[in-house]
Amino acid sequence: VIEARDIALAFGETPALRGASLSVQAGEVLAVMGPSGSGKSTLLHCLAGILVPDAGEVLFDGQRVDRMGEAQRSALRRDRFGFVFQFGQLVPELTAEENVALPLLLNGVRRGSALAQARPWFARLGLDGLERRRSGELSGGQAQRVALARGLVARPQVLFADEPTGALDSLTGEQVMELMVTSAREQGTTVILVTHEPRVASYADREAIVRDGQARTLSAGSVAP
Ligand code: ATP
Ligand code: MG
Repeated sequence: VIEARDIALAFGETPALRGASLSVQAGEVLAVMGPSGSGKSTLLHCLAGILVPDAGEVLFDGQRVDRMGEAQRSALRRDRFGFVFQFGQLVPELTAEENVALPLLLNGVRRGSALAQARPWFARLGLDGLERRRSGELSGGQAQRVALARGLVARPQVLFADEPTGALDSLTGEQVMELMVTSAREQGTTVILVTHEPRVASYADREAIVRDGQARTLSAGSVAP
């Protein structure tokens, strides 16, 4: 469903990606691992059409994402992709349910309908009773689950998750991971997940290792913990 072919990207003098290639099949959960600074986030941002590589190709369903203008890429992100980042990045002034409903509202779904679609996620993620809470008044684990619900609520084709459990203790982190992978599999969402934790990566179908701006993909279970 999504593929990077030999992409390179430098931030000024700093090369972040140097010929990285990666492909992800529809419905697959791919874990992206590698040392700090190796280019994982940059690779994710290129695949998601947030950054455009200096060289190489990014394909989504056969379309050249790297050749799209900003308007087309932003429509792609809004219509097809979901995002969960390390620090939930919820809108603090909005309630938890408004935060979950946000991608639907941005897609033009009417408020009543968007909130109705957001609500089942609260029971599913163990957040019952927190629907009307301002998101600034949630614990870290609760906020991360709200962010996860927001990433999945619009049933995106691809969910991009960059260390979604990085700010949580390992028990909560593992629960969030399990919820993420289970929910994504239920609705057929492809997941590209950056993580430092081998235990988190064990939920994935395959793993990609990024090192010095290059990626290689391994089949499941072939990486020693
Ligand atoms: P981490 O595990 O710490 O999140 P990462 O693998 O996600 O690391 P990237 O964030 O992709 O690494 O960064 C790759 C390289 O690009 C690093 O050398 C980093 O310093 C540099 N870099 C990333 N973002 C920027 C930026 N906005 N401006 C300048 N340099 C950047
Ligand atoms: Mg990163």
